[in-house]
Amino acid sequence: MVKSIVAGNWKMNKTPKNGKLFISDVLADINEIINIDIIFFPPFTGLYNLDIYPPFYLGAQNCYFKDNGAYTGEISLSMLLECNVNYVIIGHSERRQIFNEKNDLINKKVLKVIESGIKPILCVGETIDEMNAGKAYDIIKEQLISGLNGTKSLSNIIIAYEPVWAIGTGLTASSEQINDIHKFIRKILSQLFDEKESKNTPILYGGSVNSSNANELISIDGVNGFLIGGASLDIVKFSEIIRVVNSQ
Ligand code: PEP
Repeated sequence: MVKSIVAGNWKMNKTPKNGKLFISDVLADINEIINIDIIFFPPFTGLYNLDIYPPFYLGAQNCYFKDNGAYTGEISLSMLLECNVNYVIIGHSERRQIFNEKNDLINKKVLKVIESGIKPILCVGETIDEMNAGKAYDIIKEQLISGLNGTKSLSNIIIAYEPVWAIGTGLTASSEQINDIHKFIRKILSQLFDEKESKNTPILYGGSVNSSNANELISIDGVNGFLIGGASLDIVKFSEIIRVVNSQ
């Protein structure tokens, strides 16, 4: 059985002090976690010097694929390792759309993250235009094939299906749509890698997950947890989502 994950992507929110306080509040509020891993993704400035223990983990929202050097504004894997980061989000739609990241750059990052021992969460998903043009499956397939190019194993990789039109909009994909796309992702993974590994790869759903829809969404076959933006900033909502997923 794939262990569920609840991941909170704070994006460009919370100062280091606010973030530290938020994490300690969540830790104090949640005490009986048995089934799931919980990952906080603060901005880079909020990653340093945090005391955090399983089932709670730290993740970074991005990284660069070079070890060091003249790359103004970028961050390396060794810097993240020193902050006890275990996960990195790669290919989030905001990186793809606002910062123009393409599949080949995303692939370089995925490979570098794996080499470092950190686990990448590779985000895939279609825009509204791509969905309306009937291209969702082709786009997702391309994002998976390019993003994972050159990786030998799926054992440390997590996939997040995030329809771009559902991110931060209050819209969520229908249960049927989510189930179909998650099945499709697993099928592609089984064609690219070994069948057993593809069965064990966590595939998260992201896109306006909140405490009211979490129960319905986590019940969808093939959904192994969530990548959450807005609701991960709120202690009550985030803690409730953790409880819902934990009780599955
Ligand atoms: C996200 O940014 O990955 C996300 C899913 O955001 P939200 O939950 O706010 O839709």
